[in-house]
Amino acid sequence: MGSVPSHKWRIWGAQICLLALASIAAVVPMKPELVERWFTTGFYPPVQRILTSLSNLFPVAALDLLVIGVGSWLIWHWWRALRYEKGSPRLRRAYAATMSTITAVAVVYLLFLVFWGLNYRRVPLSHRLVFETQAPTTSEAMVLAREAAAQLNRLHASAHAMGWEEPLWKSETFRQSADDLQRVLGHSSPALPGRLKRTIFGSVFRWNGVNGMVNPFGLEVLENPDLLPFERPFVLAHEWAHLAGYADEAEANFVGWLTCVRAHESAQYSGWLYLYSEILTQLPAQERKQVEGVLAMGPRRDREAIVARSQRGVLPVFQQASWSAYDRYLKVNRVETGIRSYGAVLTLILQAKFSSNWTPTLQKQM
Ligand SMILES: [Zn+2]
Repeated sequence: MGSVPSHKWRIWGAQICLLALASIAAVVPMKPELVERWFTTGFYPPVQRILTSLSNLFPVAALDLLVIGVGSWLIWHWWRALRYEKGSPRLRRAYAATMSTITAVAVVYLLFLVFWGLNYRRVPLSHRLVFETQAPTTSEAMVLAREAAAQLNRLHASAHAMGWEEPLWKSETFRQSADDLQRVLGHSSPALPGRLKRTIFGSVFRWNGVNGMVNPFGLEVLENPDLLPFERPFVLAHEWAHLAGYADEAEANFVGWLTCVRAHESAQYSGWLYLYSEILTQLPAQERKQVEGVLAMGPRRDREAIVARSQRGVLPVFQQASWSAYDRYLKVNRVETGIRSYGAVLTLILQAKFSSNWTPTLQKQM
């Protein structure tokens, strides 16, 4: 039996180290206060500014290049492992290819954590806000639902007259609103707003009914190509909240909604449209009917257009599979409520104490 060349030992050693590091990173508990101090408000903000400013230079999604690059590597790698080669056992090559594929997955996971994913382990926003109530009631939700309907009725004409300027991500008032809110929430250096990009995988968004996402490796914002103009401000503000380190969906909805309702009128309209729909899904049937009755014809048509848009092109089986995969992903990232965390935004809004212009009150630092 021939001896194993020393470079192979080095490769195996590196592979084992990377696998061990990824396993440790996945399971070892981390103190949220330390993640908040060293990662979310320490290491992450400059990384976000660099990656997002680079990504903003190009209209092409870095995620597209990444998926094509990694996909091509995998195909090439496995083709080489499984093709016929005289004098080289296929089983040994398949074993080596399996090890390097697993190592690549470990590296991708570690990069995910370092670039963005550790934000899942930060101090929850609910621990930093002052709450007025602990458990919101249906009647409190009804008050908010009526407020949402009244705001939509009030804003509809002016928002449509103002229109939804393009490119939205360059809108000074919108960027200022995101910046101001993050300062209210204690960010000393608010996140750099990301360009809203299309992806060659736009159909996937359509099939599973996803409105947008942040690419955690490029810190860029990708959108569903079918979004209606009055949906886009909220979707963009939600994704900007992710860029600002609010990985949790309820928190991103909360920050995104506040960014909209504190901005110009057409963005306010977008924010209230989102919240109105969100409350309706949570209300009992009787109350839902009451609230639907007070919505004027204009916003009602916009809502119907959104429902029709979101149902068009959805593949139910694909949608169910991808949402259950996302649910698992959230749970792996220590979001115990999984996709239910989306709906938790209502509790956050109803509990939080606001001063004028929907300014949330923060607890005093210890
Ligand atoms: Zn999100």
